[in-house]
Amino acid sequence: MPTPCECCGAPFKVTHPLKRFCSERCRRIVANRRYRAHRTEVATCPHCGTPFERTVTSKRLKVYCSLDCQYEQRSADYRKRPDLKANLLRGQQVRDRKAKGQSAKSVVIFS
Ligand SMILES: [Zn+2]
Ligand SMILES: [Zn+2]
Repeated sequence: MPTPCECCGAPFKVTHPLKRFCSERCRRIVANRRYRAHRTEVATCPHCGTPFERTVTSKRLKVYCSLDCQYEQRSADYRKRPDLKANLLRGQQVRDRKAKGQSAKSVVIFS
């Protein structure tokens, strides 16, 4: 008696009592889905408070729900941090000097 595949629902002939999918492809799709479901968690965006799903396996955990939030929060942080602002300014000076073909070494000392 044919059994419907647990992935796509297509009936297939059971050749092994533990077989639940019509094809290797379907088996992989479901395994992948499960794997991903286990590797995600719900986090709250510190910028706008929206809950979002993030992958736990990535090296750098997602902190913000979107790139917009990340960008806005970062620029807010910069506004609060005069030292970062100074760094940015120095970076700009280096770029200006480089654009003019001057040495950048005298301007900036990155520690
Ligand atoms: Zn299938
Ligand atoms: Zn957000």
